[in-house]
Amino acid sequence: MISIKSEYELSLLKEAGHIVYLTHQYLKPYIKPGITTKELDKLAEDFIRSKGATPSFLNYNGFPGSICTSINNEVVHGIPSKRKLRNGDIISIDIGACYKGYHGDSAWSYGVGTISKEKEYLLKHTEESLYVGLNEIKPGARIGDIGAAIEEYAKYHHLGVVKELVGHGVGSHLHEDPEVPNYGKRNTGPVLKEGMVIAVEPMLNLGTAEVFILDDDWTIITGDDKPSAHFEHTVAVTKDGYKILTGDDNCG
Ligand code: MG
Ligand code: MG
Repeated sequence: MISIKSEYELSLLKEAGHIVYLTHQYLKPYIKPGITTKELDKLAEDFIRSKGATPSFLNYNGFPGSICTSINNEVVHGIPSKRKLRNGDIISIDIGACYKGYHGDSAWSYGVGTISKEKEYLLKHTEESLYVGLNEIKPGARIGDIGAAIEEYAKYHHLGVVKELVGHGVGSHLHEDPEVPNYGKRNTGPVLKEGMVIAVEPMLNLGTAEVFILDDDWTIITGDDKPSAHFEHTVAVTKDGYKILTGDDNCG
């Protein structure tokens, strides 16, 4: 069932989203060669807690980190570790924060130092595909419209669309109905209504769309070891469109 959020719930979701946005901004200057993903994890956890929230991912189905840190060929769910970032890496950082029982969820991919033209292309177009998907959102539109728009954009730019992982509803649970795939057909799927809150999160690969899971049972990697990027916002469906809850236009 897809829930419609009350004004009160939306105000908490807005606050949770704002904390996630601030955590990304806080981490950005630390994303440099030499820092470990475990150090980034600690910085994020302390920051989230300093805002009166808790990291949504910590212990979620047993996940051992507060954030997900996925480097280069890692698509999502990378576990923070002693691995050091190196010049030329890209890192996708997925952050969730729970504030008074409500979640915000946003992933962003960053270049470390100087990155290749190929990786720049991947980051630019995966970020753009997120907004192409979001632009479909308004009451009366359907979930399939979002996926279709992302898939069309990705195909046009020769990027592989990861299909095994999808966006989702967000509320008092981190993952709620509906599923929000990054592929699909227009005019199919659940109809969007004012007050729904969803996370849209394209994961695009420079090569094949195929992915594998590593032996740690968490980290998803690309089938051909080429890089992958991930951009995600949590948004609320409004009367005439949508509002990003995890972006800089949400002032809490
Ligand atoms: Mg996320
Ligand atoms: Mg998500």
